[in-house]
Amino acid sequence: MHHALWQSVLGEIELSISHAAFTTWFKNTELIDNSNDVITIAVPNIFAKRQFEVKFNDQIKSVLEKNGVTPERVIYTVKTTGKKTVTRETTAPALSEQSASVDELMRPASTSIRSQSSTTSNGLNPRYTFANFIVGSSNDLAYTACQAVASNPGTKYNPLFLYGGVGLGKTHLMQAVGNEIASSQPDARILYISSETFVKEFLESIRFKQKGFSDKYRNVDVLIVDDMQFIAGKEKTQEEFFHTFNALHQTNKQIIISSDKPPKSIPTLTERLRSRFEWGMSIDIQMPDFETRCAILETKAALSGVELGRDTIEYLANNIKTNVRELEGALNQLLAYAEMRGVSPDISTAEGLIGNVRQSRPQHLSAKQIIDKTARHFQIDVKEICSAKRDKHIVVPRQIAMYLLRSELHLSFPKIALELGRKDHTTAIHSVEKIEKAIKLDFMIREQVTEIREKLYV
Ligand code: ADP
Ligand code: MG
Repeated sequence: MHHALWQSVLGEIELSISHAAFTTWFKNTELIDNSNDVITIAVPNIFAKRQFEVKFNDQIKSVLEKNGVTPERVIYTVKTTGKKTVTRETTAPALSEQSASVDELMRPASTSIRSQSSTTSNGLNPRYTFANFIVGSSNDLAYTACQAVASNPGTKYNPLFLYGGVGLGKTHLMQAVGNEIASSQPDARILYISSETFVKEFLESIRFKQKGFSDKYRNVDVLIVDDMQFIAGKEKTQEEFFHTFNALHQTNKQIIISSDKPPKSIPTLTERLRSRFEWGMSIDIQMPDFETRCAILETKAALSGVELGRDTIEYLANNIKTNVRELEGALNQLLAYAEMRGVSPDISTAEGLIGNVRQSRPQHLSAKQIIDKTARHFQIDVKEICSAKRDKHIVVPRQIAMYLLRSELHLSFPKIALELGRKDHTTAIHSVEKIEKAIKLDFMIREQVTEIREKLYV
């Protein structure tokens, strides 16, 4: 009975969100109780719980309504598997750690944040795990691909190429893949390096006529090369890397690469290396949206043992839109300041700390401004963008306007539809999803959205 209802809800949600988001979040969920106007959904872990509360709750409620169920509340609880106590008795540390609760996993991670010395000789730093990576629409594809690679290295997505601006989680994800493989296959030879290290060691091996350079990189099962853009313009190194790449790829060894740009946009990358990079899967990581930024802040604050007010979290998430590293920085600054001064880390403390730095941002961006500026950007009439016209040169700007209403103002879908003169909010859901996807796949759309977004904040 519960099962049938939940299946029907899942069926509908699957149509409205990306495949990756669906598998990441909804796969292991269950409706476990429906009584007294409260529906209880079991989710796999504490992160999923947060994501459901902040991200999917409205949608789930509205789909439930469509199915004739109108609960007063939907609550999400973390599934208890009972497996934990059994595996914890085993002696292998890797195993017991793997099956420990998320809470336990996070604890050593948070203490090692301060001591970076935990990096081992394979270049892996255990603080970066899948468990402490927060997923949102900006990074769910990358996350899902990384998980796929971690569970089946060398078979799928080879090479896996992640790209995106600084501080968005590329290193974190690649390291998480390495750590995951290291614990599931303790014999696997994994090597994480930055491309700068590769360049440096290569040049040294030539200068000092050292042997063993190519062996070091070719005798691995998983090679992770971070910040590949630094290899640009260095032809000899690229040639060496090309041979390393081929040697590994031919023997089905997994290669994971990150860069600030997609392969086709890295200047002075030799053509043959570029084409190799394009063999596998290239995925970009964007700045997390507002809700994901809130989830990141909340989780990181909780890791430091602090519970921040919702208003403080939203204030930080609203004001720091550059990258996750800065978001973390602002949070740490707030916590440190509050501790030092013996004050509470609330919104007024946060305002005092970062308010003056970020004054340039208008406090009251309105829906009308977003629609006007989007229309103006595409040189179409506001009347047209709010009309029912289906011409392509109007449809795409309208979808982008809807996307921006969602990402910048966090309006509900019915509200978004209303702002653009539509009756049916499913059009809004569909449009926002479409642009979210297009941003990942289509360089042109991404540029357009970025340009408009910049215009909103001048
Ligand atoms: P990049 O390599 O893209 O420059 P990093 O992986 O170094 O970025 O990320 C910067 C910081 O932000 C790291 O401390 C990382 O743990 C954190 N971070 C980035 N994205 C997330 C996320 N989605 N969830 C949790 N932490 C994140
Ligand atoms: Mg990095």
